[in-house]
Amino acid sequence: MILILGKTTPKQVLDKFLDALKQQKIRYYLSLDNSAIKILGESSEVQNPLSKLLSYGGEVKTDSEGGEDKFFLSSRRYHSEDTVINVGGKKYGGNNFRVIAGPCSVESQSQILEIAHAVKKIGASALRGGAFKPRTSPYSFQGLEEEGLKYLLTAKNETGLPICTEITSPQKIDLFKDVDILQIGARNMQNYELLKEVGKTNKPVLLKRGLSATIDEWLLSAEYIMSEGSKEVILCERGIRTFESDTRNTLDLSVIPLLKEKTHLPVIVDPSHALGISRLIPPMSLASVGAGADGLIIEVHSRPKAAVSDGAQSLDFRQFDDLMSKVGTMLPLVGKTM
Ligand code: PEP
Ligand code: MN
Repeated sequence: MILILGKTTPKQVLDKFLDALKQQKIRYYLSLDNSAIKILGESSEVQNPLSKLLSYGGEVKTDSEGGEDKFFLSSRRYHSEDTVINVGGKKYGGNNFRVIAGPCSVESQSQILEIAHAVKKIGASALRGGAFKPRTSPYSFQGLEEEGLKYLLTAKNETGLPICTEITSPQKIDLFKDVDILQIGARNMQNYELLKEVGKTNKPVLLKRGLSATIDEWLLSAEYIMSEGSKEVILCERGIRTFESDTRNTLDLSVIPLLKEKTHLPVIVDPSHALGISRLIPPMSLASVGAGADGLIIEVHSRPKAAVSDGAQSLDFRQFDDLMSKVGTMLPLVGKTM
């Protein structure tokens, strides 16, 4: 059930009620704005403290599995304001627009350093780069793993850019303690053990949409993360699988205004993995701005043709610079600043 609290409910009464739930080992979740409680279990078990709580107004709602209330912590219904997430002094969400940029894979110390310096100068807010790469084929490059993370951290220390990199296994969480944004890749969007593990950290999580995930499945994955305590999830549309084969995936920009209705979480777009073709990245990035995205994550490489992975969709520095200028020109139209 969901309990909507009366506006005048005293904090002591609420705390006492929550204590009673804890004592009875009843699982509950408090909405981010403290206006509602989702309680798993029967209301009869909490009858006594409940009547005291309800004497200050409020209402009890039974939330059916398939109803609107299946989203709670991520839902705009229980937190009307945009969530704004601070990563190294840069804000994601609200009126802010952020660009995360970097190579598909970390290839060497010199490669990631060169790209980090360049994308920082051009205006990126964070550096991306995969160290653990969940590739479709086991014969493709799997990433430099721990060594790659070390190179990313050196790039962070040298440039001051926060880093965003993919975690593929809950057992590896300790290796990511100095990473600023934990990326959950499309292939792992429904790896619930991994979602729960990242939800226990205090780190922002970039949650990519699964290859063929519906919006509801995607938001329920965000709920997995948030129900472990994390408040900071950034959703990332990265294209979905359709019958079209000219592009790598189909960029579903309609999710942006829809998600803005359903959730208070920031939503960014990854046109690189959606399209797979570098020349399509600039127009679809601008379309993402127009649709109301809170940011972009873009693959950028010093020499795209020589990249060990995803070179065909990577922008070089000049192309990235050009794109950033165009994004900057467009932002005032949508009321955002970079
Ligand atoms: C990536 O961003 O490095 C990546 C592998 O993307 P996705 O999980 O969206 O395929
Ligand atoms: Mn890639």
